[in-house]
Amino acid sequence: MRIRKNDQVVLTKAITGAKQLDRKALGKEEKGSVARVLSVLKDDERVVVEGVNYVYRHVRRSQKHPQGGRVAKEAPIHLSNVMLYCGKCNGPARVRMQVNEKTDTRGKRRREVLRVCKRCGEVVGGSR
Ligand SMILES: [Zn+2]
Repeated sequence: MRIRKNDQVVLTKAITGAKQLDRKALGKEEKGSVARVLSVLKDDERVVVEGVNYVYRHVRRSQKHPQGGRVAKEAPIHLSNVMLYCGKCNGPARVRMQVNEKTDTRGKRRREVLRVCKRCGEVVGGSR
């Protein structure tokens, strides 16, 4: 899996989520919009993307929601509907994994796994 939490991703498909009462969609859900990954569900191959694919949850009365009611929340979408965002290409990027062996200041060997845009060679996201 090449997508991690807090990555910027591009939607490769319009995702229809919940609508508000005035029939406007709640988030930025059209194809091509860029948003942040909130969490990755590795086993399901799904990601939760900020502002995308809202669903309404019906919640009981509780301390946090004294009135109960409907709460809009992002639901996971499939990995195939997002691609990593490359800032240099300003668009979706196919990436390759690059492993760098480095020696740190105390002489310890470290592996650095980078994701590199195949088109422009820019490192996408941070290192791990
Ligand atoms: Zn690029």
